[in-house]
Amino acid sequence: MNPNSLNFSGGPGALPESVLQQVQQAIIAVPEVGLSVLGISHRSDWFAAVVAELERNIRSLLGLPDSYHVLLLQGGATQQFSMVPMTLLHGATAPADYLHTGYWSGKVLAEARREGPIRTLWSGQDSGFTRLPDDGELAFAADAPYLHYVSNETVEGLQFQRVLGRDDVPRVCDMSSDFLSKPCEAERFALIYAHAQKNIGPAGVTVVLVRDEVLAHAPDDLPGFLDYRSHVKAHSNFNTPPVFAIYVVLLVTRWLLNEVGGLHNMAARNAAKAELLYGVLDASDGYYRGRARVQDRSSMNVSFNLATPALEQQFLAEATAAGLSGLGGHRSVGGLRASLYNGLTLPAVEVLAGFMDDFRRKHA
Ligand code: PMP
Repeated sequence: MNPNSLNFSGGPGALPESVLQQVQQAIIAVPEVGLSVLGISHRSDWFAAVVAELERNIRSLLGLPDSYHVLLLQGGATQQFSMVPMTLLHGATAPADYLHTGYWSGKVLAEARREGPIRTLWSGQDSGFTRLPDDGELAFAADAPYLHYVSNETVEGLQFQRVLGRDDVPRVCDMSSDFLSKPCEAERFALIYAHAQKNIGPAGVTVVLVRDEVLAHAPDDLPGFLDYRSHVKAHSNFNTPPVFAIYVVLLVTRWLLNEVGGLHNMAARNAAKAELLYGVLDASDGYYRGRARVQDRSSMNVSFNLATPALEQQFLAEATAAGLSGLGGHRSVGGLRASLYNGLTLPAVEVLAGFMDDFRRKHA
């Protein structure tokens, strides 16, 4: 198996082989244009058609109604940490509800606080971000301008298996690390954002799905770039967009539709990969120690520890020598993490599972 197939990086993550092959060709010349994708004008008819098809594909994959805009923005998910409250917290008296479930929702909170009143409805800090809240721990405010949460905590490997919140309070969700990895009931959210570099492409583009009515109350004095309405009006071509990144995301959505057969099939593939790897953890008699509480385990990021940091270093060294890359945990928590994004195949997880069984036998 080639090393590209054994990329367990937390992000930017593995992309499907067939997409990489098309990208390789497009670097020299996009077949229907005859020019390199790196040098095609963002004002060309070709690029307008790319954006239009990508939008259609996302709508089709998610069953997204016409009442939503599909935007392709820059600034990563991080820019959305600010754009959301700049848009939705304007003039609010009651605080917006935020969940603090791990590293990334902590970053979100810090930015949101600058923009207006927010309340941390629940925090997993005291329990070391090893679990997500149960329904009984969540008293959502009826008068909150919105609820914000992160569907999949990439660092800790915690993933909500249900949609949270009240139907009468707009839901906003950072789906950066599980977007288009499974169906997500998109129509239950007022705004969803997700950068591309986990499941759907390279870094440089962030997808925002936003219900039209949400934008009606946005303040009028926002900088143009930070006003969603500028991007709606310009069809995601407000300034020079990342043409290359957007093209790759288009190829991934074609792959999801035509080769995978939609998000239900993608979800089944991702579940099979996660089941296999968690099975290795569970059968290891505590040798591999999963971070997340079992019912909150992420199908995207399997975060785990060994008995000592020295043993973890040994694991990483042997994994690298075996051609398995990207298995180090996030710098904030250390340990180990295998990310199983869309582009990573079941055979690749089988190789990792075999390596882990061998490693345990050797070093138990
Ligand atoms: N949210 C989540 C869930 C993430 O995993 C990350 C990065 N890994 C971010 C936000 C930040 O994204 P960006 O670097 O695109 O700003």
